[in-house]
Amino acid sequence: MRRKLIPVRRFPLVALGMAAFVLLYAFTSLRFVENPSTVAVIAVLFFVSGATAPSLVWHFVLVAMAAAGWLGIAWSALSLQDFYYWTLVLVSAAVLSAANVYFRRRNAGEHAPPAPAGDRFNREYLERAVEGTQDGLWYWELKGDVFHFSAAWAALLGFEKSELKTHPDEWLNRVHPGYLARLREELTSHLHGDAPQFRNEHRMRRKDGTYMWVLARATVIRDADGEPAVLAGSHSDITPLIEVEKRLLTDTFKDPLTGLANRSFLLSHLQMAVEEKSMRGKGAPLFAVVFLDLDRFKQINDTLGHHVGDELLRAVGGRLRNCARPDDVVARFGGDEFVVLLRALRDSEEAVLVAERMLKALLTPFQLGEHEILSGGSIGIALSKESFRSSDELLHFGDIAMYHSKKAGKGRVTLFRREMLEESDKQDQLKSELELAVERGQLLLHYQPSIHVATGRIVGAEALVRWRRENGEILYPDTFLPLAEKSDLIQKIGEWVLRTACAQNSAWQRAGFSPVRMSVNLSARQVQQRDLPQLVQRILEETRLGPEWLELEMTEASLMRNADSATALLRSLGDSGIRTAIDNFGIGSASLSNLRQLKCHTLKMDRGFVSEITTDPRVAALARGLITMAHHLGLSVVAEGVEQKDQFQFLSAEQCDNVQGYLIGRPVPGEELALLLRSATPVHLATVPTPTEPDANELRAMQAAVGRSAALQWAATRNARDSR
Ligand code: C2E
Ligand code: MG
Repeated sequence: MRRKLIPVRRFPLVALGMAAFVLLYAFTSLRFVENPSTVAVIAVLFFVSGATAPSLVWHFVLVAMAAAGWLGIAWSALSLQDFYYWTLVLVSAAVLSAANVYFRRRNAGEHAPPAPAGDRFNREYLERAVEGTQDGLWYWELKGDVFHFSAAWAALLGFEKSELKTHPDEWLNRVHPGYLARLREELTSHLHGDAPQFRNEHRMRRKDGTYMWVLARATVIRDADGEPAVLAGSHSDITPLIEVEKRLLTDTFKDPLTGLANRSFLLSHLQMAVEEKSMRGKGAPLFAVVFLDLDRFKQINDTLGHHVGDELLRAVGGRLRNCARPDDVVARFGGDEFVVLLRALRDSEEAVLVAERMLKALLTPFQLGEHEILSGGSIGIALSKESFRSSDELLHFGDIAMYHSKKAGKGRVTLFRREMLEESDKQDQLKSELELAVERGQLLLHYQPSIHVATGRIVGAEALVRWRRENGEILYPDTFLPLAEKSDLIQKIGEWVLRTACAQNSAWQRAGFSPVRMSVNLSARQVQQRDLPQLVQRILEETRLGPEWLELEMTEASLMRNADSATALLRSLGDSGIRTAIDNFGIGSASLSNLRQLKCHTLKMDRGFVSEITTDPRVAALARGLITMAHHLGLSVVAEGVEQKDQFQFLSAEQCDNVQGYLIGRPVPGEELALLLRSATPVHLATVPTPTEPDANELRAMQAAVGRSAALQWAATRNARDSR
């Protein structure tokens, strides 16, 4: 605990008393006087002393001496000696008072908090503060351009104090040129009194040539005329803080995979551009949102694996960045979607040019490890001169335009137009109508026959969904299934298709028709559905259809989205006796390693593939190889989209098992296919055999009969897309 001092106000009095008694004692030859006022003086001195324990001890001694002195005075009447005595009392009191004030100050310097007292104390305090801080301190005498700095200031830059001159250039010449203009501007503004404080972050070159981040803070000291005389301030090293800040910014605003800007960064910049437009109106610079969606990305990702997909996204990001201008923001928006904000455009043409450059850049094949990948993209552009309510709406416009590019056949650039909005509204409208349609039973199934090449017998029917709208118009799956696939509606539709197709097949069998295997397409979402095997099993039981009369068609891409669960699904369905087929198997997606992994029963050769088997010898060779390989793997092959006789002949010669296509028969309503089935030799339900593949001799004999196939003759009479 610090000792309490006698209050300054009272100290002269105390000192006076003390001095009086000391001197009295010394100069009156220790005469003892008797005087009643002595007691009163002692009491007064006691109270003015501050009444602290040490001061009491001290005063006790003095008071005792004073008492002796007063006794001495009282001994005789007032004399010349008494006059000397009082004079000495006053002089010595003054001396002691001064001495005590001096000691008190010194004491306070060591123990007490700062008091607004003289210069010497402040300087000491400041010096210690300077020593204690790692900040570099300085003051700049503005008139003579003298720059004084602490040793810490020099050390901050890696110098000894003696190595630097006392000139402001030691600071200013070390500032990175990129920050100098702003620094000067802020200094001037503070010196002119526009900013109460000077505060600036900039980079400074250290002795070793590296740059550090500093925070400079200063205050101007003005002379009597109010003119800036001195600028006093400090520099703090904020490099570590800036590094952390930069890392945080990177984490927040960069897409970790591609290193491009992320969605939030793009949105914030788009928002700024939109705000500028609303503030400046027509005077604001033209900007555009470029929406890009990669073609075939899902397929590549599913078939070649996620790491190749990731590599592709990175490579695409790099190419897009090269096509953009320095001011543009290139962002990965999510999945395989990229959005570029083009700023300060001359006109809409410039936006189209940049977008076309981007598309062109994507057309060059990507070499990723041992894979050479062809990608490409579809682009939609929304310009800021459109009228829009928010940045979200402008993005939506870009998305709509991109969707148009995709629909128009990919690899295109489309500028957003108002009419597209109506179309997009129509899509929304269509989706809600579709939801109602499912409930109101407006969906129906058409069945497309497939024949066994060797015998010409109808052995299968593929269930294909259609939507009959209130106005009687028939919609095909390509127009409405993608809408349903965006929501759970597809599962509802899928279940309905499955149940209806199984019930139809069961009804045909019960009617005693030649039995066929019913093929049902499954959407990607259904393939992911965990309880799919149980659902199929339940439906088979409900409809009383044997599992061997159902074949579920899935695309390779939908299966490979999750290869492990796909393998389990195929095994589980196979164990229940249900057959599975890989649909649309062709050049684009074929991956032999996947085929080995996916244990299914049938390969459906894609229509696009079949259409070229008679025109492109390489496709013919591939088809030949594919059929052989499938047979080696124990799979049967169905060729889809067979439209021409020469295609059929080729497939027949290559021992393709079954064919399906307009040449054989278009998709037709159930009743119509029933007619066809009835025309074939009726087989009684009880004796329906499990389909078996004929042996080679049987096959050859049957092939001869194919030309006379009833199904072929029947198909020749059809010419509508679907026969109704
Ligand atoms: P897919 O499974 O490849 O079905 C064959 C499609 O090719 C059918 O089109 C069919 O009408 C058409 N097609 C058949 N033979 C020929 C031909 O010789 N030439 C030409 N140009 N086309 C032919 P559709 O009915 O429009 O179905 C299109 C796709 O929609 C189907 O392709 C299938 O993936 C899907 N789909 C159809 N119904 C369903 C369904 O119930 N559920 C699911 N998930 N998808 C379905
Ligand atoms: Mg199919």
